[in-house]
Amino acid sequence: MNEQEEKRYKRFKLGMKIAGLILIAGGLALLIAGFVDLATAEGMPRRFWCLIAGFPCFAFGIMLTMAGFRREIARFAAREHAPVVNELSKEIRPGIQSIASAAAEGLKASVCPACGAANGENARFCDQCGAALVKICPACKAENGQDAKFCNNCGAKL
Ligand SMILES: [Zn+2]
Ligand SMILES: [Zn+2]
Repeated sequence: MNEQEEKRYKRFKLGMKIAGLILIAGGLALLIAGFVDLATAEGMPRRFWCLIAGFPCFAFGIMLTMAGFRREIARFAAREHAPVVNELSKEIRPGIQSIASAAAEGLKASVCPACGAANGENARFCDQCGAALVKICPACKAENGQDAKFCNNCGAKL
């Protein structure tokens, strides 16, 4: 963006802000007039059109103003909220890491040895091929992990 474009852009933005603020003020005045009339009128309110005209005026004014101030809002948001987001991620990062490693552990424990499908942590059979994901001890019938070499309940060789 060269200097002239920058200047035109700034003037355009200024125009949007001013037009937006005027629309907000005008819309608000129309809305108030309409509401007052609605509250005080006997029978059909004569200034009902104020509400109808005021609302889009007000909404459009806010849109224009927001667009006009977008750069300022973005700058403000970046300055005000970035540190908060950083702090937050610093605090939740260990939590996420432990969850991730726990999930990885869990997945590792229940990956089907036959087809490689990931099964739920407590799955006993693969939900894709039906292969057993646990070893049943021949001596005491306890369930052991699929790669266990000895029973974790009685020590028998699996
Ligand atoms: Zn399987
Ligand atoms: Zn056993």
